[in-house]
Amino acid sequence: MTGAEETEILVIGAGLAGLTAAYILQQAGHHVRVLEGAARIGGRIHSACPLGDAHERVDLGPTWVWPKWQPVVAKWLEDLSVPQFDQYDQGDGILDGYGPTPYRQFLPGQDGISRIRGGPSSIIDALFLRLAPDTVVLKTKVAAIEPTATGLQATTAEGRTYTAGRIILAAPLRVITEQIDIPGLPKDLLHCMQTTPTWMAQQAKVVASFKAPFWRGTGLSGRVASRQGPLVEIHDHTPADATFAALFGFVGWPPVARASDPDGLKTAIRDQISRCFGEEAERPENLLVQDWSTERLICSTADLMGPPAHPDVGPDLLRHGHLGGRLWLAVSETADVSPGLIEGALNAGETAAERLRSSLSA
Ligand SMILES: Cc1cc2nc3c(=O)[nH]c(=O)nc-3n(C[C@H](O)[C@H](O)[C@H](O)COP(=O)(O)OP(=O)(O)OC[C@H]3O[C@@H](n4cnc5c(N)ncnc54)[C@H](O)[C@@H]3O)c2cc1C
Repeated sequence: MTGAEETEILVIGAGLAGLTAAYILQQAGHHVRVLEGAARIGGRIHSACPLGDAHERVDLGPTWVWPKWQPVVAKWLEDLSVPQFDQYDQGDGILDGYGPTPYRQFLPGQDGISRIRGGPSSIIDALFLRLAPDTVVLKTKVAAIEPTATGLQATTAEGRTYTAGRIILAAPLRVITEQIDIPGLPKDLLHCMQTTPTWMAQQAKVVASFKAPFWRGTGLSGRVASRQGPLVEIHDHTPADATFAALFGFVGWPPVARASDPDGLKTAIRDQISRCFGEEAERPENLLVQDWSTERLICSTADLMGPPAHPDVGPDLLRHGHLGGRLWLAVSETADVSPGLIEGALNAGETAAERLRSSLSA
């Protein structure tokens, strides 16, 4: 390894935590390269344009932040000049499956719940634009990490090698334990990683777009709580510029049922939306289904098999350097604030970058 490689920092995973860590380290003058297994950056954050690039994006991953209660999110939105707007929650909600037919009822909204203009991908875009050119290498899945005499070597699934003085692993913890061979990791760390669920990895999210938010005109908030499904919750997801309207929902069908009948799922979703909102909802302009359980770089086998669970704050072991202080973890689930959430991903990226930097100057 050359002197330059010894000081290089490799970040594996271009989700929010990885990009945050990379940005902080580059700002501090370090040479950083990010290897991302997928063909796009963002990881679980994925906002897309259902009606073409002339329109605002909708969210196939996360939607909400709570800047009023989340100081890390509030700081980054301000620093990156990413605007937010209120989640629409005026009017009645609908209870579906609680009686013979759906009925209206006031469902209180959450204090401080906000959306990000252009979706949370706007944070990803803003970070990416601030990185040095060619920092991120896409379609580069790391399969092994091993120590060298002076640092670490990452080997990709295709056998390409990258050497660095330090590595930040910014991939979901269970994905790392199942898909990246890392000899010498302490047993207690491995156990902690294997037992930490990846938040929302099993979920499927649906966005139905319409020409206009017709439900608002009849005093409905767009919110549905359903026992019948297939969507267990539905929310107004109209973009800030309201050039079109949208509803989003979480699918209650388990991954195996979704996979075995994708067309049946779409038909059942259309039926449910028109059952709740009437004829106007019968034919959405567009119906997008994003099934995260099929994303191998996000949803591990353990996540697929186990019950969905929100991660608790894990032990500090997750936030220490390992393999002689050369290997660090940074994914939302390692955060000591809001693990699993966007706030957690930003916190995890900050923590790994700052602790790694302190270790270099120690
Ligand atoms: C449907 C859904 C709804 C959500 N709703 C909300 C919400 O409303 N509010 C909220 O705060 N949070 C929400 N979340 C959670 C939020 O999306 C995550 O906390 C956050 O995006 C995690 O970012 P991360 O960078 O920590 O991890 P990830 O986004 O998982 O990034 C990990 C990256 O590592 C890459 N990778 C994995 N393995 C390898 C490998 N071997 N080699 C190279 N790259 C690899 C992956 O491709 C990915 O890009 C939601 C998540 C989902 C899926």
